Amino acid sequence: MTIIIDEGECIGCGSCVELCPEVFQMNEDKEKAEVILPEGGPKDCIEDAIDTCPVSCIHWQNE
Ligand code: SF4
Repeated sequence: MTIIIDEGECIGCGSCVELCPEVFQMNEDKEKAEVILPEGGPKDCIEDAIDTCPVSCIHWQNE
């Protein structure tokens, strides 16, 4: 399983980055979040980020 962000949907609110900076960071040029640690990181904060994302654009994906 890897974690992905649907960039087309992301509104760049920064919530996921705030909750889980080990896994997400802001891409300042695109003004969207990106995944910096697709396979890992603390599961709890990933789940928090998924639950909190206002446009539900963070997903687990089967490889
Ligand atoms: S919480 Fe969702 S909308 Fe906000 S920056 Fe992260 S991926 Fe984008």
